Amino acid sequence: MQNQKPEMNNANRLEKANASPHAQVGPGRSAAHAAIIDGKAIASALCKDLKTRVDHFKARHGYAPGLAVILVGEDPASAIYVRRKGEQCRVVGMKTMEYRLHVETREETVLELIQRLNGDSAVHGILVQLPLPPHIGTRTVLAAIAPSKDVDGFHVTNAGWLAIGEPTLAPCTPWGCIRLLHTLNIPLRGERALVIGRSVIVGRPMAQLLLIEDCTVTIAHRYSENLADLCREADILVVAVGIPNLIRGDWIKPGAVVIDVGINRLQSADGTNGHRIVGDVAFDEAARVASAITPVPGGVGPMTIACLLENTLRAAEIAAS
Ligand code: NAD
Repeated sequence: MQNQKPEMNNANRLEKANASPHAQVGPGRSAAHAAIIDGKAIASALCKDLKTRVDHFKARHGYAPGLAVILVGEDPASAIYVRRKGEQCRVVGMKTMEYRLHVETREETVLELIQRLNGDSAVHGILVQLPLPPHIGTRTVLAAIAPSKDVDGFHVTNAGWLAIGEPTLAPCTPWGCIRLLHTLNIPLRGERALVIGRSVIVGRPMAQLLLIEDCTVTIAHRYSENLADLCREADILVVAVGIPNLIRGDWIKPGAVVIDVGINRLQSADGTNGHRIVGDVAFDEAARVASAITPVPGGVGPMTIACLLENTLRAAEIAAS
């Protein structure tokens, strides 16, 4: 009986998504328009809950969970991400330490810093902001982080736990996607899920997490043929590619749930220096067909930091237990 799948049609999938307080119903929205998944509100609720849990942790143990963030170089986007992570840490009452290293810092220096942080009992999570400068080996650096402090979930040990269906610290972006689906009470067992993209950061762990949720999972990538046909079979569609508007509305199965992980910066058409951020899914087209869809920005993005904080608290709880 465990694997029996409840019948799910478009109407009741839409009903489920709409029932959530986090599915935005816009003024002009009709039954033929998807629920907009409000990742910002869901992440904010998660952070509020985390603050309470961090307060309990501090009362019980007498210290705060600590996250160390290492940034090598001055990539502007990375600097913004690091700043936001620090700010959010403080909001939920965690301790944060930032290590900003010069772009020419040698790999050994980064490894020495990681070794020091591995041995520091005030540090429960270590995050190395990617991408690293080309002279530093990303795999080598990630492998140096103690798996118990690997709050990004990229260490092979944590990837291995995830691959055998027992995630301890799961990568934050895909974990955030699963949390969005859970919050909206989207049924997953037995549903057909398509993950487009197979990166170590998003696509692969996303597929593993959906498998744990008992979805029937397909992974597509740059060499996959007939992508549109694969999409048309998916009840749950997760797209993490990095190509603006790659997925068109007529590729989407009516009533599907669409999670758009892509973040693409498009130059404004007016020739100014302005830009706008779009996802990998042609949002307006898709919203006419899907039952629920994440916007970009404001969908998956806010969940990533919230899940990083949750992983840090989890790492601190495991270390304390
Ligand atoms: P990546 O470049 O490492 O991987 C992209 C994947 O897309 C690859 O597996 C590749 O095979 C696949 N791909 C490329 N072209 C394709 C095509 N035409 N058809 C099908 N598949 C194709 O990228 P990533 O790190 O996984 O990130 C993907 C996107 O998600 C980017 O836009 C990135 O900015 C975004 N992202 C967002 C968050 C967030 O917090 N919201 C976090 C990480 C990444």
